[in-house]
Amino acid sequence: MASERTRLRMIARLREQGISDEVVLSAMAAVPRHLFVDEALASRSYEDTALPIGFGQTISQPYVVARSCELARAGRTLSLVLEIGAGCGYQAAVLGRIAKEVYTIERIGALAAKARQTLSSIGANNVKVRNADGQEATSNVVQFDAIIVAAGAAAIPPNLPQLLAEQGRLIIPVGTTDRQRLTLVTRSGDQFVQQAYDEVVFVPLKSGQE
Ligand code: SAH
Repeated sequence: MASERTRLRMIARLREQGISDEVVLSAMAAVPRHLFVDEALASRSYEDTALPIGFGQTISQPYVVARSCELARAGRTLSLVLEIGAGCGYQAAVLGRIAKEVYTIERIGALAAKARQTLSSIGANNVKVRNADGQEATSNVVQFDAIIVAAGAAAIPPNLPQLLAEQGRLIIPVGTTDRQRLTLVTRSGDQFVQQAYDEVVFVPLKSGQE
């Protein structure tokens, strides 16, 4: 199948770009990215580019998905993962192959519904989609091994680091609307250590729900 070949080319390119986590690479080799975009764009779905998914939103570039997952995993076995900004659900599907259980939050109801449908059609039963504002996510009990925010923020929403388990890792693009740095926050007890990585461009993290 053509999509099979282009998917393998995408994996080879990710290796060339420096992605070395084999668990992430095999997850991305297994998820049919072309099913997460409109049919008219399917032939371009394995290119290293973001593509429109409607409602002014995009499916993230494969490199950025791979890099975020690699930084979030850091060679660990992940039990519970939270994603904020499900969009079409692609990254959530990749995370579903890396972690035991994934919760993903999307503020636009129509996108959440479509993501839910696509994820169910590929049998990603360990991924749960919620329609809400992910910045408001709170929990007294559940703590996540990793949190990936897939939208750019001016600053780290203060309650998100609190949702991390011990040694949990939060990945979030932080910066201006047209340029951010992929930022890692690692929890060590009550300490939160911050490190900046790749320069990226994400659609903005917004408040409220549609
Ligand atoms: N994870 C997607 C990328 C989605 S783009 C992928 O796999 O390609 C980012 C998404 O974040 C958009 O769909 C946008 O609607 C959503 N978003 C922005 N702010 C949000 C918020 N506060 N809570 C939840 N979703 C949000």
